[in-house]
Amino acid sequence: MPNSTDHTTALYRVRVAVPVHLFDCFDYLVSAEQYEQAQVGARVAVSFGRQNLVGIVMEKLALDAPVDPRFKLKPITELLDDRAIIDAQVLQLLKWSAQYYQFPIGEVVQSALPALLRQGKPYNLLARTWKLLDLDAESKVRRSERQQEAYKVLKLHPVGTAENILNMAGIETATLKALEKKGICECVLEPQDFSPQPVQMAQMPLKANPEQQHAIDHVLKYKNKYQAFLLDGLTGSGKTEVYLQIMQQVLKQGKQVLVLVPEIGLTPQTISRFQSRFQCNIALLHSGLNDSKRLQAWQAAETGKASIVLGTRSAIYTPMPNLGLIILDEEHDLSFKQQEGFRYHARDVALYRAHLQQCPVVLGSATPSIDSYALVDHGKMQVLELNQRAGTALMPKIHILDLKVAQKQHGISLHLIEEMKKRLERKEQVLIFLNRRGYAPVLICDSCGWQAQCPYCDANFTVHRQPYQHLHCHHCGTVHRLPEQCPSCQHTELKPLGMGTGKVEEHLNELFPDFDVIRVDRDSTSRVGSWQKIYDKIQKSEPAILLGTQMLAKGHHFPYVTLVAILDIDSGLLSVDFRATERTAQLIVQVAGRAGRGEHKGDVYLQTLRPDHALLNTLVKDNYRAFAKQTLQERQIAMMPPYRYAALIRCESKDQSLNTDFLQKHAAYLRQYSDLNLDIWGPIPAPMERKAGRYQSHMVLLSADRARLHYYLRAWWQNLLSNKPSGMKVTLDIDPQELS
Ligand code: ADP
Ligand code: ZN
Ligand code: ZN
Repeated sequence: MPNSTDHTTALYRVRVAVPVHLFDCFDYLVSAEQYEQAQVGARVAVSFGRQNLVGIVMEKLALDAPVDPRFKLKPITELLDDRAIIDAQVLQLLKWSAQYYQFPIGEVVQSALPALLRQGKPYNLLARTWKLLDLDAESKVRRSERQQEAYKVLKLHPVGTAENILNMAGIETATLKALEKKGICECVLEPQDFSPQPVQMAQMPLKANPEQQHAIDHVLKYKNKYQAFLLDGLTGSGKTEVYLQIMQQVLKQGKQVLVLVPEIGLTPQTISRFQSRFQCNIALLHSGLNDSKRLQAWQAAETGKASIVLGTRSAIYTPMPNLGLIILDEEHDLSFKQQEGFRYHARDVALYRAHLQQCPVVLGSATPSIDSYALVDHGKMQVLELNQRAGTALMPKIHILDLKVAQKQHGISLHLIEEMKKRLERKEQVLIFLNRRGYAPVLICDSCGWQAQCPYCDANFTVHRQPYQHLHCHHCGTVHRLPEQCPSCQHTELKPLGMGTGKVEEHLNELFPDFDVIRVDRDSTSRVGSWQKIYDKIQKSEPAILLGTQMLAKGHHFPYVTLVAILDIDSGLLSVDFRATERTAQLIVQVAGRAGRGEHKGDVYLQTLRPDHALLNTLVKDNYRAFAKQTLQERQIAMMPPYRYAALIRCESKDQSLNTDFLQKHAAYLRQYSDLNLDIWGPIPAPMERKAGRYQSHMVLLSADRARLHYYLRAWWQNLLSNKPSGMKVTLDIDPQELS
């Protein structure tokens, strides 16, 4: 019989998720021995085309599984791990995410790995450990205080201490090297210790008030099964205390807790609240870490060494062998949705992960998203309310200032200026919020009305005066000199129009020469450590005016602020995005929450040209929940999310008609499926049509039937991608959070 060996030679293969922008996994050959060793969830080095890549084994194929004749099978280059470094559950989560967000599995899987593991570095990197050689070296370090300090610490730990721990204790590597030169100590490379560390309480919990106790008890009823909770509590009502007490019970069972916070929320203050309550290993995962720190934190989570994992969005994919609880704080925050590439929403992924793990998940906010309220309405989430501020602090009162009739100076109502004066004279602080950095949003010619526009975007240049006079496009980053005369009429009077934080700072200094104006925005805090300095200043009980953007709105505790003003809420109310009013309401409540957290009652002033705006009035006269209820009704009538499911297709190229023709043609194809009840909006030009010299077009798909929408979308989207002309970029955003 010809080729009889073909039947007896088993074909050992593994299916690998390779980091390439393609939707499939790829099969590779392995030896019988490798097949035995290979674990699903372990890394392998493979060649792909001409590249050498690191992939993850997704499946060990049965020996008689059919072979895809289109591809010539290649052997793997190397097996990199002898065990799964991504556990089955996280693999399942990643597969689900790739499907749900219609993003290539190989790239999705990569986003769950720290950079060093993505690059194929060995799992157990050897840690630099310092050991003392000379136990009698006091005299050799007498001249340097730093060396004395380092010597003392080394002497306490005869078996040696990891360099990163010494660094954390303030002992610099340079000092250790100086000691090494003198022959006092040596650096050895040792494997890291991943053994779990016990949890101890470092601080007693506070006595929970009845609402807090109810929330804690209720969540703990679900210790070992899936349930989603919405902790809906005013700012300062003690949500964090509720998290801590639930965590305490879960940690006591020997389980791990995953806490997700917004990008901007992972401040030293947040970290220290967790550290000062629990004495245990806390793995911090955020974008500011260098590669080796990130790897260490990830490994602490993955091995079970860390009991608490505290991180931003992407930490949702961290493997944790004993996960028992997920907490997502400030769940309404936009930073939980990735806005580039793999556009997942960590909140939705968290719900699915808790479901896989059969553990509770708690979403907390003072301004829950409308999406979460809808889940509560549909019985998919239980709501727990906290209606009192903890301690003695009272809720601030909100006042609307009608800019159409108000007398103003420099764009600030005189009434507001008076009120600010009163607070400052009482030695209290005031906070002025304006979400527009730079000096002024427009440079205009007094004589002919010409405005300085970015040549590459449909947008005005912003005028900046610091660190020097220049024009800056906030959309593409282009920087220009300030023109000396109008290019259109040669007039030399060019004026900055409108207010940015820079200009308001100038005015405030003029209006209140006796008080400090502290500006907090991306420009004033870009230097390392400057935010900390500003923060320390704010924590002192001295009168001051805090002026800032978004950065000031989140989670911070400013005990001396008793007046908060938002100078312009209208840009948020007038936006084309259906979520704009939701975002504005959240911003108002969050900014307002900074007022009166100490002993004094706070006041909040909103400047607007639309004092009659219905939703705004509901928010001010009633509260955020009433606002949310009304918004839900409006969304239901308009059949907008969360009452229908959306997918946004963005198309970008150098030629707008190319975009619209292309989208038009593909939309026609989808329209065949009338059973889908699909609404197709567009294609229309994006709100900002031209950005960085390229034209953008949008198309929105809406359907009440999520499963069918996704089913049809899958084939359609992959077909669209493979037919797109070169030079065009198309992206798909499932459950988009922003329509711009
Ligand atoms: P939130 O997270 O809801 O904004 P926090 O947890 O930060 O609120 O609580 C606000 C303040 O109230 C904090 O200073 C906190 O220590 C305090 N606090 C919270 N719960 C209690 C309690 N049960 N008893 C006394 N003080 C509390
Ligand atoms: Zn002019
Ligand atoms: Zn631009």
